Amino acid sequence: MPNGRRHDPPRHGTLSGYTVDGCRDECCKAAHRTYMKRYRTRRGLRDGLMVDAAPVIAHLDRLLAAGMTPHDIVAAAGWRSRNSIDTVRKARKVRPETAQRVLAVIPRPGHQRAMTYVSGYYTAQRLLELRSAHGSYAQIARLIGVSKETPRDIVAHPDRKIRRATALKVLDLWAQHLRELDQEEAA
Ligand SMILES: [Zn+2]
Repeated sequence: MPNGRRHDPPRHGTLSGYTVDGCRDECCKAAHRTYMKRYRTRRGLRDGLMVDAAPVIAHLDRLLAAGMTPHDIVAAAGWRSRNSIDTVRKARKVRPETAQRVLAVIPRPGHQRAMTYVSGYYTAQRLLELRSAHGSYAQIARLIGVSKETPRDIVAHPDRKIRRATALKVLDLWAQHLRELDQEEAA
């Protein structure tokens, strides 16, 4: 043990419960694991070991557009929960293993069943951000050529399936939005 003074009782559920107080029960092991995970992520970023998340996110989009549900992707990537998808989508950089995991997923014939309708979840998320960029859902509807009510409906019911064609139109507008942001950042 390090020189730190042990606490009696140990501070369970904390990193020092593990390192200083020497608890090896799940309470403190879990805190230690969480800390190490964060540490590895920070170290990865510092060492430039992380890779660009953009191609990984683009691949997730292709999988969804091909009719895979988030549940299908989680299973195919060997993840435990849908949170992993959300984490990747918010990231600028990901670990190389994560990138490999996602890029290795290809839609199987069974996934094609839903070709016409896809999960509305990510389209709803994009619409929310596009709304702040474009001012209103009506304006977005005009830009992508769908009925005025469509974008608002998708955002109001993200759990519903939507037409794949609509998802792709939103995806195009979203890609354009990201290109504009990149240009602004480069300017
Ligand atoms: Zn403990």
